Parts: sequence; C-alpha cells; structure tokens
Amino acid sequence: MIPFLNLQQQTDEIRLELDEAYHRFMDSGVYVLGPEVDLFESAYATYCEAKFCVGVGNGLDALHLALRSLDIGPGDEVIVPSNTYIATWLAVTQVGAKIVPVEPNPSTYNICPDAIAAAVTKRTKAILPVNLYGQPVDYDPIMEIAADVGAKVVVDNAQAQGARYKGKSVGGLADIECHSFYPSKNLGAYGEAGAITTNDSSIADRIRLLRNYGSKIRYHNEECGYNSRLDTLQASFLRVKIKYLDLWNDRRRQIAKTYLAAFSNLVIGNAQLKLPFVPAWAEPVWHLFVVRHESRDNLQRQLTAAGIGTLIHYPVPIHQSQAYPQFRNHNLPLATELAATVLSLPVGPQMNELEVAKVIQTLTEVIQLS
Ligand SMILES: *Cc1c(COP(=O)(O)O)cnc(C)c1O
Repeated sequence: MIPFLNLQQQTDEIRLELDEAYHRFMDSGVYVLGPEVDLFESAYATYCEAKFCVGVGNGLDALHLALRSLDIGPGDEVIVPSNTYIATWLAVTQVGAKIVPVEPNPSTYNICPDAIAAAVTKRTKAILPVNLYGQPVDYDPIMEIAADVGAKVVVDNAQAQGARYKGKSVGGLADIECHSFYPSKNLGAYGEAGAITTNDSSIADRIRLLRNYGSKIRYHNEECGYNSRLDTLQASFLRVKIKYLDLWNDRRRQIAKTYLAAFSNLVIGNAQLKLPFVPAWAEPVWHLFVVRHESRDNLQRQLTAAGIGTLIHYPVPIHQSQAYPQFRNHNLPLATELAATVLSLPVGPQMNELEVAKVIQTLTEVIQLS
C-alpha cells in the first residue's frame, strides 16, 4: 500500500527533536505566545525573505486578518481564483466584501493575470491569488494591475512554502502573504497553525493587534480584535520542522521530476494524460502533483484497487458548492472542468524510490490497458 501522504513516517524522521521541543515547551511555563512564537516568527520571516512574520491560529484566519488589516469590508470587491480551496473565498465572505471569481490559466491552473485585468473595477480593494498546488502565480503582472487600480495583493500561500518566483522566495513578494501550517502542508504543524508575512511594519503591527483581542498592552484594547494566536506548542514543533523544509521540498522535486519524465508520453485513445506545466520563472515545491484525465474517476478507482492512494483537489468547484448558492449560475467553465478531471498523485517527501516506481508502473499499466 502506498498512502497519499505518510505523516507518521515524517514524524519518525525527527522524533527526537520533536520530543525535545515538547519538553522545552512543558518546562518553560509559557503556554501562550512567548519566546517560542517569537523565534519561529523570525525564522519563518527569514525563510520567506520577508521583513515581518506574525503567527496566527490557522490559514483561514491568516487570510481573514489580512483582509481586516486592510479595512476591506462591505462595498469592496476582492478578486479570487475560481479554482482554489474554499478558504480563499471564505475569508472574503468573513469580512463582508464581494467575491469576484476569476478563471485560471489553463496550463498552470493558477489565476490568469489577463482575466484579473478584465475583472478589476474601481471597487476592487484586493487581489487574492493562490500559489496553488505549490506553484507560484505570475506575481509581476498581478502586482502591476493592483498598483494601477490602487488595490492590494494578498497571496494565499498555504500550499507553497519554499517556492520561488524569478529567484525570489514567495512570502516576501506581495503586500501580505498568508500561510497555513495545517499538518499536511509542506511545512505542517501537529495541529492548527498559520502565519502572515509582509514587508510593511504597519500591517504586521495591525495583525499583531487583531490576533490578540485588539490589544498590545494587556487589558488595553485598541479595537475589537480576535483570539487567533499561533499556539506556542505548535510554534515549538514548527521551529524543528522548518529546518527540514528545504530537504523535504527537494525530495518532492525529485519525485515530480521522475514522474514528469516517466509520464511524458502516456496516451489513452485520443485522450492524453495532462501533466503539470511549470513556467520558466517558477520553482514550485510540489505540494501536490496534479494530473488531468477525462476518465479521472475510473483512473482513481484502478489506482485505489492497486493500493495507491490518490486525492482530488478539489471535486466540487466552489461556485457549485452548497455554501455559495448565489454563485450556482456563474459561468466558470475552467473551474468546472478542473474539478471533473484533476487527480493528485502521491508526492510526499517520505516516499522511497520503490514506491515512486510502483506509482509509475501502475499508472502506466492502467492507462495503456484502458
Ligand atoms: C489549507 C489551505 C487553506 C487554509 O488553511 P487552514 O490552516 O486549514 O485554515 C487556505 N487556502 C488554501 C489554498 C489551502 O490549501
């Protein structure tokens, strides 16, 4: 059996250091914020090549607080990808702004800058692209469009810790970048955790307020904030895991490279297996290795039968989800088609060569036989 992602094995690789971190936390007597959070924030800011990092409760809160810190609310429009995880849209819903979904580039599946240019209005206050599947968006044209209309760029970087755009780390490029450390992300905690990074000290300060009841000094509340602090135990674990992020991302890259070479000519009838496309300026971190196929469900069934774990990111396009009935009749054909054809193959950093070979052999057989 090859699981889609083996987190237990990842834990085994670093168990001693995690146990040490746990004991350090227990003995410290500091269980909310404190030095462990400060130290992780500065390590992660450095890693992202950003000036500031503020740890928060989870990735959705990072997005929500980012929009709050820009005072975005009712009457404002926020551009989001039609193809993403629902959290991206929910953050806009949480601040009461209008969601403006924009279709992806058909080869990268990331939000299309030309389509953003066509969707901006004078009410556009933010563009919220997602570095989906671990691949950076095309930042330069997006930043330009935003500057033209006076909007901010808030990037959802939940899936791309360590990715690079034109040689620079994502996390330090947009006005605010939002990160999730949900356990299955490339940098994952052992529970809920998230962060924002920014080069703007006033945004960092505002988010520090918002995550802590609107207060800098205890019992002095400057505004109505939230309780969304990065958990101190999770920060201790994340300080261990961040040291391994580049190594683990490299392993993901190796596996992706092997898959791309092995699958480059697979065809079934007239219908090709579509492989991920990486633009020259992108250095993705392969949070997911997403292929596309017209008979995706059949493909997934046969891989499951052969003991290979796969997942679908995501099976229901958000505009057709029950959470957003008001978008049901929106015409978003690319998001709809992606939901029907995408399949994520295992690409976890703990996979060994035999497992990678087994995935390649099985998928090749399944496609050639059908
Ligand atoms: C995981 C994820 C989030 C949300 O992160 P949580 O920590 O689960 O709140 C947001 N956006 C994208 C694209 C994600 O993959």
